[in-house]
Amino acid sequence: MEEEDDAKLVFETSKGVERIMSFDEMGIKDGLLREIYNYGFEKPSAIQQRAVLPIISGRDVIAQAQSGTGKTSMIALAVCQIADTKSSEVQALILSPTRELAAQTEKVISAIGDYINIQSHACIGGKSVGEDIRKLEHGVHVVSGTPGRVCDMIKRRTLRTRSIKLLILDESDEMLSRGFKDQIYDVYRYLPPEIQVVLVSATLPNEILEMTSKFMTDPVRILVKRDELTLEGIRQFFVAVEREEWKFDTLCDLYDILTITQAVVFCNTKQKVDWLAAQMRKNNFTVSSMHGDMPQKERDAIMGEFRSGQTRLLITTDVWARGLDVQQVSLVINYDLPNNRELYIHRIGRSGRFGRKGVAISFVKSDDIKILRDIEQYYSTQIDEMPMNVADLV
Ligand code: ADP
Ligand code: MG
Repeated sequence: MEEEDDAKLVFETSKGVERIMSFDEMGIKDGLLREIYNYGFEKPSAIQQRAVLPIISGRDVIAQAQSGTGKTSMIALAVCQIADTKSSEVQALILSPTRELAAQTEKVISAIGDYINIQSHACIGGKSVGEDIRKLEHGVHVVSGTPGRVCDMIKRRTLRTRSIKLLILDESDEMLSRGFKDQIYDVYRYLPPEIQVVLVSATLPNEILEMTSKFMTDPVRILVKRDELTLEGIRQFFVAVEREEWKFDTLCDLYDILTITQAVVFCNTKQKVDWLAAQMRKNNFTVSSMHGDMPQKERDAIMGEFRSGQTRLLITTDVWARGLDVQQVSLVINYDLPNNRELYIHRIGRSGRFGRKGVAISFVKSDDIKILRDIEQYYSTQIDEMPMNVADLV
């Protein structure tokens, strides 16, 4: 990661936030440290340099940093550090907005926590309840889940909350937005009153920051200015299509470029994903597609194929907008413009992971242009018309 990225984080605590420049100096358990290096992490990223220490020393923390800069990895590290493996009770709970993200985070925890014997469990909807019960009763230290299933397990008393000392909301602005807020509260009220709370996201709009005083105590706040939120490594373009019907041909024209590495195409509805995938297949293009109405088994299979690189082009909804990490993705297409500015940042952030290059292309109908210009202005970024040589940029 470039040194200059550091300057882009804003620190707002009274005492200032210390920077710890190496994992060695963080006071991390030996076995965990070893696994972090084994995992391929050499040096903490800007957000990790600042937020790991306050989190593992028990502070409430609000941690914002650009997409793909190691926030979720930091969560995995922190929970492994704070969990006492001599106990067999759940000590840390991570909530995420999608099953795939909750599962991905659990994978990282079980990888870096392997040597120190961290038992973790992905507690997510669409999976066997029996398996959840079996795992939880066997004893786990860390649960990474989605709110509905986690709440269900708490109410059944299968997930015991009395030893939970840390609650982390990944993609926290989404978790505290209308769709999830009640469910989060439902979980929160079962947790011990002195619970440590950590919020993580690339986007933290003011209305979310304003509500944090209700459940956080003197949090360390690490925030990013709006005009520093887009990554220089992700080039942003648009294609003017005038009419909806032209989007399809535009996508077909781009197919060869899209499949040079891997690409994600976003549509705003599940129906459109189904339609577009069918249409592409009819025209002999190989695509995979995924959305929230598919059975979890199918979602898992599609994720597996895409992660392994067996499939290169994924057509999907905003179920894929946040947090998912496939390093080979270098292109994102907004077949439809996202419904809000935050989603734009998260969608394009599926490319350009941890300093890699990325390209984001938005298809805009005539009446979409002003929405795109608004996004451009809001983040003080630049979205140019797609150049002919776009393949060279991927
Ligand atoms: P974010 O949550 O900020 O979007 P992630 O935690 O998903 O970012 O990390 C993005 C990618 O960067 C992942 O592939 C992860 O393995 C990698 N990564 C995270 N931290 C480091 C680090 N310190 N060194 C090298 N790679 C890292
Ligand atoms: Mg993340």
